[in-house]
Amino acid sequence: MSDDPDTGTGAGSCMQSKEDTIAENRARCICNPCPSYNECMRAADERVFCIRGKSPTCTFDKKGCTCPNCPVWQAMGFKKSYYCIRGSELEQK
Ligand code: SF4
Ligand code: SF4
Repeated sequence: MSDDPDTGTGAGSCMQSKEDTIAENRARCICNPCPSYNECMRAADERVFCIRGKSPTCTFDKKGCTCPNCPVWQAMGFKKSYYCIRGSELEQK
């Protein structure tokens, strides 16, 4: 007579919030030295546009986008660019 309660094993949380993903990748984002990154974005310390979406307050001129050189872009398998102007990878699909 065995009592076998079906307790799940190894069911860790694999859900990560968007905010957590942004926070995790902030230090790896290379927007700061990008020629399109301007004083408005710097003042608001805005980064990781590929995930968070375009800047809500700043406007930009396209002067080049260094995203394809970014470790976040490469690790995530992203394909787009100019996230600060056009919106996140998901929004551009
Ligand atoms: S891909 Fe672009 S926006 Fe996203 S973290 Fe890298 S540099 Fe920043
Ligand atoms: S998203 Fe691309 S264009 Fe915009 S600041 Fe970052 S690297 Fe530059």
